[in-house]
Amino acid sequence: MVLETPISGRWQGGWLEGVRHCPSPNFGPRPAHALIDLIVVHSISLPPGQYGGPEVEQLFTNQLDWQAHPYFEQIRGAEVSAHFFIRRDGTLVQFVDTDQRAWHAGASHWCGRDNRNDDSIGVELEGLEGDMFEAPQYAALTELCQALAQRYPIAHVAGHEHIAPGRKCDPGPGFDWAQLQQGLGWPIGCFPDVTLGGSGTQG
Ligand SMILES: [Zn+2]
Repeated sequence: MVLETPISGRWQGGWLEGVRHCPSPNFGPRPAHALIDLIVVHSISLPPGQYGGPEVEQLFTNQLDWQAHPYFEQIRGAEVSAHFFIRRDGTLVQFVDTDQRAWHAGASHWCGRDNRNDDSIGVELEGLEGDMFEAPQYAALTELCQALAQRYPIAHVAGHEHIAPGRKCDPGPGFDWAQLQQGLGWPIGCFPDVTLGGSGTQG
């Protein structure tokens, strides 16, 4: 699958060129000397299971009308963000400078470190836990991971469900880790051990 507008891979500071920038106020500084080596994959759709609307961008920019849908009451007042959002058609939107700390992971642990908002990049896929994802989303995510690896010493990719087990379930069983691993050609040890029949590593 070839994207109509491939990701440039060029950076202006922590902003990726050639993608739409939708700046979120929900970010802060990373700790000094943070080693940004993890990409966290999430899924989100608002209302859940409905695709294509403006609500996710509204949520990440604190502009969501909490009364517009009954589900929104459950997340009323949430101040959250991710660095990137990939729509069903592969369109990429950036909300937070990757040098800054976005608010996507919450309490989390991976590879021996806690609070992985400090030193990860958060990528939201438009989707629903348990639902499948679209080919253009894998293509965009693959290009994005490659662009991030040009800028940071990325060593791991994991789902929110892996770094916050029991608390989070996204992106869920509909996300094909093997497809991402094969698209990137990175070692299976970079991925959760769901990637290839449990032969990966985690910890
Ligand atoms: Zn998540």
